[in-house]
Amino acid sequence: MPIINHVLTEAEFRASPFYDERPIERDIRLVVIHCISLPEGQYGTSYIDDLFMGCVDCDVHPSFESLKGVKVSAHVVIDRQGKIKQYVPFHKRAWHAGVSNYQGESRCNDFSIGIELEGTDRDTYTEQQYEALNSLLDQLFAEYDSLTAERVVGHSHIAPGRKTDPGVGFDWSRIKAESPL
Ligand SMILES: [Zn+2]
Repeated sequence: MPIINHVLTEAEFRASPFYDERPIERDIRLVVIHCISLPEGQYGTSYIDDLFMGCVDCDVHPSFESLKGVKVSAHVVIDRQGKIKQYVPFHKRAWHAGVSNYQGESRCNDFSIGIELEGTDRDTYTEQQYEALNSLLDQLFAEYDSLTAERVVGHSHIAPGRKTDPGVGFDWSRIKAESPL
């Protein structure tokens, strides 16, 4: 899955409005793994796409009340079938990490790539998701020199006490990265 102009050539690209410039465009040195499902625990809906495209209908489900006015994105989403969609080019800053700290540095969005797995922080992940994620990591490591197997973390690692994703069901030994635990 080659990357050209910071976009995966073999994945669908959807241009999220929720991104801006990185302070340093070339400063890409962390991968943050997340999970999301909308409504939580329901898979295969269009609502993650709607959320990242800025058009989620907040009246569809009671839990969506909290999504009103929320502007978030990730660079990539991997659904339960292992299908990859990209929403923000990698050299731009996606809005996924929030208040965060990695080895003493805050604002991890500035220098990270955010990957959302369709899932919950209690569920396990599918074979296809691990395969897609490993393929994606290979491409990212090849494209960005500062990204290495040691620089892959979960959202919970950079926002402890606030975030729990990707959760206990994510098997770090299954991916081509050092376990940050
Ligand atoms: Zn997260």
